[in-house]
Amino acid sequence: MAGEPQDDCLFCKIVAGEVPATIVRETETTLAFRDINPQAPSHVLVIPRLHYPDAASLAAAAPSVAADVLREAGEVAAQEKTDDSGYRIVLNTGAGAGQTVFHAHAHVLGGRGLNWPPG
Ligand code: 5GP
Repeated sequence: MAGEPQDDCLFCKIVAGEVPATIVRETETTLAFRDINPQAPSHVLVIPRLHYPDAASLAAAAPSVAADVLREAGEVAAQEKTDDSGYRIVLNTGAGAGQTVFHAHAHVLGGRGLNWPPG
């Protein structure tokens, strides 16, 4: 069920402390940790603590937590000092768009030039 921890979800396991991660920020509703396979000098994932399969379902079911995720993405960029030069928040949604972990997450990428359109 949306919002309930899922036994087979990697990010639920990170929230539970069962899988290690390099955590950079925490709030009551969110967790931010470094991506294990960084695509930029600064690459942090911001997730809701509760399980929603993607950003759209999070926003539909818990809009205030979706706002928390976006606010935290900005706080991560400030903490990583990528906010001056510009950073990108990415919400891959669906396997065809590159989503591989089906627990909502925002990628926060910065520290290098970022091309447009993305690949
Ligand atoms: P997606 O492809 O779903 O948009 O993003 C999932 C992200 O999770 C990928 O960038 C991937 O590198 C990252 N990832 C996968 N497994 C782990 C892990 O065990 N720990 C951390 N910190 N990141 C992971």
